[in-house]
Amino acid sequence: MRLVILGGPGAGKGTQAQHLCRHFEIPLISTGEMLRQAIAAQTPLGQQVQAFVEKGELVPDETMIQLMRQRLLQADTSRGWLLEGHPRTAFQAEELDFLLEDLNQHLNQAIWLDAPDDVLMSRSIARQRSDDTPDVIQHRIESFRDYTMPMLDYYEHRDRLLKINSNQSIEQVHQEILQHLQ
Ligand code: AMP
Repeated sequence: MRLVILGGPGAGKGTQAQHLCRHFEIPLISTGEMLRQAIAAQTPLGQQVQAFVEKGELVPDETMIQLMRQRLLQADTSRGWLLEGHPRTAFQAEELDFLLEDLNQHLNQAIWLDAPDDVLMSRSIARQRSDDTPDVIQHRIESFRDYTMPMLDYYEHRDRLLKINSNQSIEQVHQEILQHLQ
C-alpha cells in the first residue's frame, strides 16, 4: 500500500498516518519530522532548512524532492509507505510521480483530510509544538490554501484523491478511510 496523506496543519494527518501505518504495516515517512530531526542535529540539511521551518514557510521544492528520492531508496520502503507532509505543492506531486515511475512504484491514493480553517487553527493551538505560534500557524494555513490546494486538483484529475471529512472523531475518520481503501 502506497499512500499520501494531505490536509492543513491540525487536520489530523499525523494521528491518522500512525493508525494507517499500523494497520497496513508500512513505514510512516513524515517530512516535517525528518526536517525537525535534521535541525535538532544541525546537519547540513538542517542548517539549510531551519529558517524556513521556523517561519512556517515551505522549504524549496528541489530540496524536498532530493530528500524524498534518498528516503524512498531505502530498503524499508519495498512493502509500501505512507507519506505525511509531502507533496505540498503541485510541482512536488508531479515530481513524486516521476520518481515513482523511476522506482517502478505506484501511488494507490492521496487521502485529503478536509477541515474548516477555524478547526485547523484551534487544533494547532491545542497541539503547541515549538514552531506553533499563532502567527506561524496562520502562515501555514495560508500556505496550505495557496500551494497545497492546487495540488488536490492534480490528484483529483488522476482519480487518486480520497476526500475525507476530518471534522469528526479520530476513530470515525480512520474507519471512513479504511472503508474506501478496501
Ligand atoms: P509539518 O510537520 O508537515 O507541518 O512540517 C513542518 C515544516 O516543515 C513546514 O512548515 C515546512 O516548513 C517544512 N516542510 C515539511 N514538508 C515539506 C514539504 N513537502 N515541502 C516544503 N516544506 C516542507
